[in-house]
Amino acid sequence: MSLPPSNDNKAAKEPGRDFIRDIVEADIKAGRVKAPVTRFPPEPNGYLHIGHAKSICLNFGIAKDYGGRCHLRFDDTNPTKEEQEYIDAIERDVRWLGFDWGAHLYHASDYFAQLYDWAEHLIRQGKAYVDDTPAAEMQEARGTLTEPGRESQWRKRGVEENLDLFRRMRAGEFPNGARVLRAKIDMAAGNINLRDPVLYRILHAEHPRTGKDWCVYPTYDFAHGQSDAIESVTHSICTLEFEDHRPLYDWLLDNLPVPSRPRQYEFARLNLGYTVLSKRFLTTLVAERRVKGWDDPRMPTLAGLRRRGVPPEAIRDFVSRIGVAKANSTVDIAMFDFSVREHLNKSAERRMAVLRPLKLVIENYPEGKSEELDAVNHPDNPAAGARKIPFARELYVEQEDFMENPPKKFFRLSPGIEVRLRYAYFVTCQSVVKNAAGEVTELRCVYDPATKGGNAPDGRKVKATLHWVAARQSIPAEIRIYNPLFTRADPGSGGDLLADLNPQSLEVLKEARLEPSLATAKPGEVVQFERQGYFCADADGAPGKPVFNRTVALRDSYAKA
Ligand code: ATP
Ligand code: MG
Repeated sequence: MSLPPSNDNKAAKEPGRDFIRDIVEADIKAGRVKAPVTRFPPEPNGYLHIGHAKSICLNFGIAKDYGGRCHLRFDDTNPTKEEQEYIDAIERDVRWLGFDWGAHLYHASDYFAQLYDWAEHLIRQGKAYVDDTPAAEMQEARGTLTEPGRESQWRKRGVEENLDLFRRMRAGEFPNGARVLRAKIDMAAGNINLRDPVLYRILHAEHPRTGKDWCVYPTYDFAHGQSDAIESVTHSICTLEFEDHRPLYDWLLDNLPVPSRPRQYEFARLNLGYTVLSKRFLTTLVAERRVKGWDDPRMPTLAGLRRRGVPPEAIRDFVSRIGVAKANSTVDIAMFDFSVREHLNKSAERRMAVLRPLKLVIENYPEGKSEELDAVNHPDNPAAGARKIPFARELYVEQEDFMENPPKKFFRLSPGIEVRLRYAYFVTCQSVVKNAAGEVTELRCVYDPATKGGNAPDGRKVKATLHWVAARQSIPAEIRIYNPLFTRADPGSGGDLLADLNPQSLEVLKEARLEPSLATAKPGEVVQFERQGYFCADADGAPGKPVFNRTVALRDSYAKA
């Protein structure tokens, strides 16, 4: 298997190196920092996805590589969208990915009192004012990239009046949206973020952590850098869309009596083909029941990937292969599948399962007889041992492994052709049984008892080895095959994301048959179904009637998609 070429940057060739680590190293060398302090700052308004994994690996990875620490900080400044369910899921997923924040669990809401005091500080310095302009009008007055903004009529309010109004905002005297607190910077600034940005808004909403204590909440821009400073974060790493916010990040830190001086650095967010990594859109998919939930295995969420059977090591490996760049790009989903296969190939035991069964009867095998054959659990790992699999006169093979009138290069079963049944015998198909519709329902075969174990004493060769299960001894199972959630590599490029959803993203096979050892598979256990791919037992299964999710096929199927 060869690794698809990376379309990212040179760091992809050199896992573990990137421009942010270069900056951290230079800061350590120059004595500007002793050990880096980073943070991963999710907003608890949804589940984490594979894009967040990139940020988590970068922030926790740098802390680990350079003897520093990484904080988990919930950016919980918008109580209308945030929920405890998300907070719990985020903690679970970061841990599952293999990272630990130790004692350093924080919330922006821990700092609401300090942030409020700093807002008053800005007011007293004449650097913030209360604005009564309605939101739409304020938006319009911000100007554009080519035109400066217009100053609000409330910009000249005096310090005392501003303090009084801000305190009354905080005391709950005004309804939502009646007034905001704005920084007084420059309405003509080239950077729109510096045109008197909003620092506080009125929101009469209960907060998951602070309850009804507050009815004014800081904006992201006002909370973020100051939270970094409170926690002595040295390198505040975020995605490129915050590059334009950096001058404001710096302005606030420069104008407040903060206890430390963090710096912000931006890297390119992860974009993946056939995938959408926008929390807002993923929330829509869940809310509109386009998927079965945040952990639906088709979702790019860590919960979905886990349920699908993707090991956390594969995600970390993928993230280190794609590297960290300063320019946005889209990563081929084949890169991700490559990492998943690499890890599962090593860790997953082999089993036999027939997804779409076709009965095969061995006419010269005695009725009522059965035997136990030896099958190895892992071809590259003798320590994984072996197991017994039952063989009998009636078996199932895969429908697609038989063709009545095969083309030239088809070497699997067809009338007159001899093939190997893995771990068992050579069999030759002699005739077929058809139903009224003319479909083949049964293969009538003969076997050669001398080929037990899979080799002919006379040295004759066969061109195919097929997987199979014994008809009576096998167990029924439901298999869920996942195809890409979108039909386009760049979903939404036609203007409507929902229109690009793949109606065939889930295929359910209800007739599958598994070798009996799989009856006791535990949810989360991943095995390789020989010749098919990697499959993960799902919690929807019951003893004797398991459900398996296909994690990934053995070979790249995206070319076809
Ligand atoms: P939304 O999808 O609604 O824009 P978000 O993904 O930015 O939200 P946050 O909870 O704010 O959600 O993200 C937490 C951190 O993860 C941020 O520092 C953000 O920059 C980073 N992050 C989010 N998406 C990606 C991505 N696709 N690639 C890399 N990092 C990401
Ligand atoms: Mg965000």
